Amino acid sequence: MPPIDAKPLRIGVFGGTFDPPHVGHLVTAVNVRHALALDSLILMVANVPWQKLGTRSITPAADRLAMVAAAVEDVPHLKAGDHEIRAGGHSFTADTLATLADDHPGAELFTVVGDDAAAGIRTWERADEVIARSRLVVVDRPGDPVELDEDIEWIRVEVPRLEVSSTDLRARWSDGRPLDYLLTEDVLRVIAERGLYGTDDHAPEHVTGLGS
Ligand code: ATP
Ligand code: MG
Repeated sequence: MPPIDAKPLRIGVFGGTFDPPHVGHLVTAVNVRHALALDSLILMVANVPWQKLGTRSITPAADRLAMVAAAVEDVPHLKAGDHEIRAGGHSFTADTLATLADDHPGAELFTVVGDDAAAGIRTWERADEVIARSRLVVVDRPGDPVELDEDIEWIRVEVPRLEVSSTDLRARWSDGRPLDYLLTEDVLRVIAERGLYGTDDHAPEHVTGLGS
């Protein structure tokens, strides 16, 4: 048990498919972590991203977790979350928050979402539970605030928005354009080692000399 006068832990959850994780995710994560003075910010790897089912083939969860773990390994306060993978099945933030609340009694939980995800918060499974269990944090672009559900007390954090997406990175990998500086070298290494994204046929040449 923590001492009575200990401040409650502040834990953020930043969920995603992370297929692969990129600098947009990392810049967001470190800035939100800093702005809210979180003890930890967990990049929570979705097991089965139900919103994306049927749209494309998703890299196995264990590989996505390995990439996120590589991305945050040396970053203080950022963690790779395997809770949803261990739980198996569909990933719902409401369930993940319940697990974290059990693991860390008294902790203050924060659910961090990008502006695209924030606009659709009411479509989430048991959205009311997410809102009741955590403070909602929306990552805004400077000068371009997103319109949000006014019944929710959002925390807005402005983060320099980098126009990077996992979709673009997968396309780059498959047609051989460089990915350098769009994701970390450690993540590139995991992609190469595990043969993700069709590495064998199309591995791009990296400025960083990875794989040479
Ligand atoms: P995909 O292109 O496959 O949809 P993605 O790049 O959008 O991937 P996700 O794993 O879907 O990445 O996103 C996880 C979270 O990160 C979401 O809340 C999303 O809004 C946010 N996010 C995605 N890209 C960026 C970015 N460039 N900057 C800040 N946040 C981002
Ligand atoms: Mg996305």
